[in-house]
Order: sequence, then structure tokens, then C-alpha cells
Amino acid sequence: MDKDLLSLTHTGDEYDKYLNAVVPPIFLNSLHVFEKFEDYCNVDVFEEDNYIYGRSSNPTVHILERKIAELEHGSRAVAFASGMAAATAAIMTTCKIKSHIICMRDVYQPVKRFIHGVCIPKFDMSVTYIWGNDLEEIEQAINPNTSLIILESPATFVFRVIDLKQVADLAKKHGIKTYIDNTCLTPLFQKPLDLGIDIVMHTMSKYIGGHSDIIGGVLVSKDEDLMRKIMSEMREWFGGVLGPMEAWLAIRGIRTLNARLQQHQTIAMDIADFLEKSPKVNKVNYTGLASHPQADIIKKQQKGHTSLMSLELDTTPDKAVEFINNLHLFGKGCSWGGFESLVLCPLYKASEEELDFLKSSRGLIRLYCGLEGSENLIEDLERALKML
Ligand SMILES: *Cc1c(COP(=O)(O)O)cnc(C)c1O
Repeated sequence: MDKDLLSLTHTGDEYDKYLNAVVPPIFLNSLHVFEKFEDYCNVDVFEEDNYIYGRSSNPTVHILERKIAELEHGSRAVAFASGMAAATAAIMTTCKIKSHIICMRDVYQPVKRFIHGVCIPKFDMSVTYIWGNDLEEIEQAINPNTSLIILESPATFVFRVIDLKQVADLAKKHGIKTYIDNTCLTPLFQKPLDLGIDIVMHTMSKYIGGHSDIIGGVLVSKDEDLMRKIMSEMREWFGGVLGPMEAWLAIRGIRTLNARLQQHQTIAMDIADFLEKSPKVNKVNYTGLASHPQADIIKKQQKGHTSLMSLELDTTPDKAVEFINNLHLFGKGCSWGGFESLVLCPLYKASEEELDFLKSSRGLIRLYCGLEGSENLIEDLERALKML
């Protein structure tokens, strides 16, 4: 039995609660009322079917949280207004004043900006950056104040992969919490909690929403006490709750997640194969290619592949920009995870210092393969490559 597919489609279906409607309603209420004051006083918003006020919990949002918790094999999920609201909540929950963070160099950039703009100046915290592939490098970075290791695998830009179980084991030995941004693979293709990671984050603005029409985030863990803290201290007090309308759209999106991902993966594989064979392409970074330097780890911990990849052309950064401008089917825009293909040169405007920090290049091209089909997308790429 593939339980994931049932979680995607049917978890949260309680027809008898909603007049047998096949789709649950959007609960647009801000509060819940009770017959007796004592009943109101006894509500524990962490418990099933306990609702009091929309900033603590909402029935539509909770259906989505149940699906995510099941898919990630966590005990509880808590949804936020955005991926960044979730990411920063995870950092604030696990760290305190003077905490030390170990962070992969190529994690999602705004997370690093948050560390440098808020954690360090306001909370006297510190950070050590790691590549993540060398256990000794991580071990050396650990100090008595280390509270958190921030991971992403495959990570932004070159889709570096790290051995999650190895890092989780090391962190446990030192009493350090581990956090991963699992957006890129979704719970269908990677389950970090089962490998020992403490907290998983997803931005639902990408594959989970799947239609480029919502912003949302979620945290999930097996640690019930940690999730209680995240729900009360971080979500209820900071107030970054997911709205019920967004939750409803995310529920609609998640029902087709497997069907979409399988298709995205097939298309991305075709495109990566095509690009790798092109003499004008120097390098393709894609986890589905046998040439990926960490193919053995990928096989061990991933069940599938994202439709994100990056490539380097045998040309200058300016020509790379010209190349992407010549693509008609790939919109020039940030984000990803919807039906539409996208392309960017994410480091084109980076400083020399940033490029050196990432050991990456200004002309790097990131492709997101949407659902326009391999044939159409390859035709578009082939034409633009010929124009180079
Ligand atoms: C988009 C993105 C985020 C941030 O999510 P928001 O919902 O925009 O806050 C975090 N991580 C990754 C990998 C992303 O692509």
C-alpha cells in the first residue's frame, strides 16, 4: 500500500462533518463560540477539533497540516503565512541569545540574510558556513554554543546533496538540532525526519501549492513538545498564520502533487539529457543525471527528482542572459513549482565576494521545468542554443 497517495488525496476527508461535501469548506471565521464559558476555558488548541481563535488554529488549515504531518512521518505540522515565516520560526525556536548556527553555504539566500540582519546583530548569535559534504568539516564547526544545523538537500543553485543521516547522527551526538528545507523534493521524494533530521520546512508557494497562486509555509517534526512551542510561541505570538483561503488552495494543490511531480520529473530528465549532450553546454547540475557527483547519496535517500536544474554555457555571462532572453516558453522570473517553466541567471548581479563564497559563476542559469511538455521545451532550448 502506498500510504502517501492516500494522504495526498483523502486525509482530512470527514464527509459527515461537512454535509457530505466532497471538498471541505473554507472556514472564514475568526473565532469559535461555545454554549458554556467552562467549555471555552477547556480548549487546548493543540488537540484535534479544538478551536478557539483563528490565530491559534483553523479547521481548513488543520486539514492541510494533517496531510503534511502524515506525508513527512511527523507527529504534527504547523502552517505559516510563508516559507520564510516558517524558516525563521524554526530558527527562533531552536536558538537563543549567543547561539551558534552551522549553515550550508548554498541554502536559500533570504535565510542567510535573516541570520546576518537579525540573529547576529539583535541576538548576538554567530554562524559558521559549511559545504556540508565533509563530516569532518561539520564536526570542526561545532562549538559549545551550537544550537542548530541548517541544511538544504538538494540545495539552491548547483543542487549539492548531503548525506542527511550522517549529519543527523553527528548532530544528535552533540545535542544539536537539525533543520532542512525539503521544498525541492517534497515529502514524496524525501523524508528527512525518518533519517533523523529534527525539523522539516516546506514553502507551499512551490510544488505543494503547485499553481503559482499562493504563498505559504509549513514546519513539521516528530517532536511533539517542539511543535507545541512552534505553534504557540512562534505562530500564535508572532502571528504569521496561514490564511484559510491559502490552506484550501494548498489542499487542492496537494491532491495532484504526485501526478504533477512524476510529470515534472520525466520532463526534467529529458531536458537534462538533452542539455548534457549539447556541445554548447559546459555543465548541467541535475540530481537525476548519472554524472551528478553525489549519485550514491542520491540513490540512498531520494525517491525521485525535482524539475529544477542549473547549467553553465560555454560563453560569457552576458551571452547567458541573451540566451535566456531568447527562450519563449521559459518566463524570466523568480520562484518555481507551478505549471509554467521559468529561467533566471540568479547570480548575474552578485558581488565578487558572493560568487567567491559560493564558488559559483555569474553566468549560471537556473531552469525550472514546468508542464509544457518535453518536446516543446526542448524545441525552445534548441532554438536559443543555435542562436548563441
Ligand atoms: C521560495 C523558497 C523559499 C521561501 O518561501 P516563501 O514561501 O517565498 O517564503 C524557501 N526555500 C526555498 C528552497 C524556496 O525555493
